Amino acid sequence: MEPIRPSKGNTVGMYCCGPTVYDRAHIGNFRTFLSQDVMRRTLQVAGLKVVHVRNVTDVDDKTIARSIEENRPLKEVTEFWTKEFHKDCERFNMLPPHIEPKATDHIEEQIEMIQTLLEKDHAYTSDDGSVYFRVSSFDEYGKLSRIKDRELKTNSADASPIDSDEYDRDSMADFVMWKSRKETDGDVYWDSPWGEGRPGWHLECSAMAMKYLGEHLDIHSGGEDLIFPHHENEIAQSECSCSQQFFKYWIHGAHLLVDGGKMAKSLKNFYTIDDIEAKGFPPVVLRYALTSGYYRQSLNFTFESLNAANSALQRLRKFSDELLTKVGTNRASLLKAIGKNAHTEDPWSLFEESWDELRNDLNISGALGKLFSAIKGVKPLEMSAFEDSQAAIAFHKLIYALGYDLDQVEIEKPKSEAPEEIKTLANQRWEAKQSRDWEQADQIRNELQAKGWKILDSKEGYELEKI
Ligand code: AMP
Ligand code: ZN
Repeated sequence: MEPIRPSKGNTVGMYCCGPTVYDRAHIGNFRTFLSQDVMRRTLQVAGLKVVHVRNVTDVDDKTIARSIEENRPLKEVTEFWTKEFHKDCERFNMLPPHIEPKATDHIEEQIEMIQTLLEKDHAYTSDDGSVYFRVSSFDEYGKLSRIKDRELKTNSADASPIDSDEYDRDSMADFVMWKSRKETDGDVYWDSPWGEGRPGWHLECSAMAMKYLGEHLDIHSGGEDLIFPHHENEIAQSECSCSQQFFKYWIHGAHLLVDGGKMAKSLKNFYTIDDIEAKGFPPVVLRYALTSGYYRQSLNFTFESLNAANSALQRLRKFSDELLTKVGTNRASLLKAIGKNAHTEDPWSLFEESWDELRNDLNISGALGKLFSAIKGVKPLEMSAFEDSQAAIAFHKLIYALGYDLDQVEIEKPKSEAPEEIKTLANQRWEAKQSRDWEQADQIRNELQAKGWKILDSKEGYELEKI
């Protein structure tokens, strides 16, 4: 894996394609946003300064369609869903981006970019006032997605799935940068040298990334569905307008699946953070489950994975609590100091291998594996004064990078010990059950119930729970 080397000193410019704000973001979207959050945190813990830009797509076919459907102004719809998105991000303990530009606030920059591309003959206008990028003018088109020329010419659906209303292109592969005003857009349009209209989605990200991060940038990231055509088209527009490489590192996350298929709003097979919380799992558990697999591999979402995540987090929380009690500090202030890079020394010792896994292309599952091995059998109370403070810093550096809000983890109450009389009855019931004497088994169950104890059966045996 190629190491990340920032193009400007110690600062990494990181652009993430943000949400399209016409509906609630689902946990698949959050798989991608959470990996980006871990990426940013890990770069920060590694000692780099990160400038994180994540845009808001607040004008496109979907946002306009929703505003028309609901008969509400576009701005009202997009502001509502942007706020909902921010609330969810906070619950997931995601760091807010340093800059969060909206597409509608950058129409001027987008028009300027089109003008440059027209001057350089990479673009052309159509009779209806739309402007297209001429794919054949850029030899390197396809270098990111490795899409072949033949596919571009024949597969018009893939070439630009959202531009279906365009019939005026010189070539099927050409994509729209400025869409002339259509009746279906309602009152959403801006003036431009080519008449009224609105920008194309790909152009929005090119213009905003370059405005805030400069012409040659470090990391550009999104879900794997954005590789083509979105990112391929961004590269074409940006590299042709400024004649140099756009981004050095393209990082794409694989999709979250449900029952082996893609989780998507259009398929109505998606969950939100609320759906999961309603089942009793706080956002930190969902964060753990969504990020613990390798981000370049697709992940099948299951409720069992939430139970496993919950148990794992209990162990981390317990270890953190013990360590902090021993050191005599609190979690919030230690994490705050780590966030400010206050601990520049290299205290990894016990957690070196875990950190190595994490910084190796965010191998989170590897990092967690090493982390659990490192804490196994370790008793903070028995550590020396030096060891404990080193361990506290290193352990919480990892927790910071992974972004777990351990205060959200609900520590399970220890089970109450049943008195002998109850244990004997439960045992008799178990034996009755084994010998298929259902009547006797039920009778004892009722007796236990009346005495205030519930029996929870499993394949391996049973447990007693106080009612
Ligand atoms: P959108 O709001 O549709 O623009 O998508 C926001 C982000 O979520 C983009 O980076 C998408 O690539 C990503 N995304 C969409 N669906 C999924 C999914 N099922 N799993 C992971 N990421 C996804
Ligand atoms: Zn984008």
